[in-house]
Formats: sequence, structure tokens, C-alpha cells
Amino acid sequence: MICNGGCYCGTIRYEIKLESPDEARTSICHCKNCKKFTGSEFGITAKLPWKSFRITQGSLTKHESDNGSGTKLTRQFCGTCGSGILEYGAGAGENTYVFYGTLDEPDQLPPKGEFFCKVRAGWMPEIPGLFQKKEIKE
Ligand SMILES: [Zn+2]
Ligand SMILES: [Zn+2]
Repeated sequence: MICNGGCYCGTIRYEIKLESPDEARTSICHCKNCKKFTGSEFGITAKLPWKSFRITQGSLTKHESDNGSGTKLTRQFCGTCGSGILEYGAGAGENTYVFYGTLDEPDQLPPKGEFFCKVRAGWMPEIPGLFQKKEIKE
């Protein structure tokens, strides 16, 4: 399957080629770091193999920082409009994480779980049918 996407202003376009939707794992993350970067209550990204992702138009701006737990986190975004396109930690290996809202048809890759539920906003309910983790591992 092919999933296309891009940033808000249209400068950046990308293509994702997957054998099947099972190659991607979309998840919601309530951690403070995701709140800050997205300016929202949570981050939502689709984890998929680097080799399946290709920029077809424009080039991304990169920001690297410690995510607060000693792990270097890299984010790549449109330098013109600021849309986040990719993020990956130092331990992400062969995978990258694509910001879900930049997909043209996000319903192609629905979420499977939620992380960092211990810092979920008080008004935000658990999403039925997904797994819920307090942080990352447990
Ligand atoms: Zn843009
Ligand atoms: Zn997060």
C-alpha cells in the first residue's frame, strides 16, 4: 500500500510504501515532550521502517535535543510552516515515526495504543480498543 502525505503549506511531500498496514504502528503519546512540540494535548505518530519512507518534494529542517530522559530525540519539520513530519529517538534503529496528521488519508493507519497515560490531561478519556501504557514499557 502507498500512503502519501505532506506539510500544511504544501512545500514538503512524502510517500510511504508498505507491504501491509501491519508494518506500521500508530500510537498516541501523552508525554510532555510531545505536548510541547505539537502544541497539543498529545502527539500521534505512525512508527514504520525508514526504508518505506521517501521525501518526494522539499527538504526537512532538523532539530535535535535531549528528551529529558537522557535520550537524544530528533524531529524533522517543514522550515516554512512548521508542520512536524518525522521524529525518532537515538534507539529507534531501523524505524522512524511519521506525524499522523500529515498523512493525506490518516484512516489508512489507525492507532493501536497510547503511551505516557500517566500524564494524560484530566479531561481526555481513554480511547476504547487501544492498549494503554503508563509510560513506555509497562
Ligand atoms: Zn510546510
Ligand atoms: Zn511523547
